[in-house]
Amino acid sequence: MGEYDQHTPAEYKARFPYLKEVDSFALLNAQLDVENAFANHRKNPGHFGYPNFRAKHFSKKSYTTNISHNNIELSANYLKLPKAGWLKLRLHRQIPADAAIKSVTVTEMPSDAVYVSILTERMEKAKKGFYEEIAEEAETVKAKPSEPFRTLRAVGLDYSSPHFFVSSDGYVADMPHWYRLAEERLALEQQRLSRKVKGSKNNQKQKRKVAKLHEHIAAQRRDWQEKEATKLAARYDVVAVESLDFHGLSQALRFGKSTMDNGFGQFLSILERKLNAKGGALVRISRCEPTSKTCQCGYVNPDIVLGMQTIECPVCGRIYDRDQNAALNILKAGVRTLMRK
Ligand SMILES: [Zn+2]
Repeated sequence: MGEYDQHTPAEYKARFPYLKEVDSFALLNAQLDVENAFANHRKNPGHFGYPNFRAKHFSKKSYTTNISHNNIELSANYLKLPKAGWLKLRLHRQIPADAAIKSVTVTEMPSDAVYVSILTERMEKAKKGFYEEIAEEAETVKAKPSEPFRTLRAVGLDYSSPHFFVSSDGYVADMPHWYRLAEERLALEQQRLSRKVKGSKNNQKQKRKVAKLHEHIAAQRRDWQEKEATKLAARYDVVAVESLDFHGLSQALRFGKSTMDNGFGQFLSILERKLNAKGGALVRISRCEPTSKTCQCGYVNPDIVLGMQTIECPVCGRIYDRDQNAALNILKAGVRTLMRK
């Protein structure tokens, strides 16, 4: 790394007293991050841009500290951190008894809520080397008897507004009512914020209120999406979707940011993770397929435009729901894609 790494964070403590607020691991981790950023940039300037300066007031507020002796401890609902001491916390997930804490990342959200993420390592695995682990995994794969032939269950999903998605078997996933209410409330509080004098106490207070609501809605949305994805992953092995360009779509339809913020992209990555975990797959089909204009008889109807919900096919006379029909076509295209592989 050459001339850059001659300095230690301790040297800067006199000039920047706030550096004394955290422990030396936190500073060391920050230094490592900076060094990595520069090393990455030097190695591949096309991919990694020149590192940006971090302003104290506009950056994500977080730091990571590592375990050493007993500087970090977890006991019931309390966490001990270096310098900070014992802090009360609400544990979202139990840490297994045989897991050892490696590091802790503390993040302060704009709403002032503080989250800690605890990285642990299972004792059993820690003792074994990486390659031993891989060899062991390969053994268990070999030992498994070959699976009997099984029918793959597949479904297609069509992203639809105002719904969230419509499936090829007619299931309509709607963002829950309480979510819409929370969004309306957020819009109202944001409007109130815009009326406050910039920099005033009330402005600060309202800013925190809006941030808190934002975080709450994001958590609710994620929770709901996890549940919808769990249901789908339990029922199907393969889910076909259209690879939509959401930025383009939101501009073309002139939707407000909030409409597109429903996070279909986030939902798909949750779903993909769940499907992959059970050996299934998420199949993305190209957006060039005329999924919403093609009838099940094969006729491509040029007269179908956005906003038409019930369609009557002039060729075969079938009456169908536009979204479900699109989902069916997405499913067919998804299966074709799989067959080609
Ligand atoms: Zn038709």
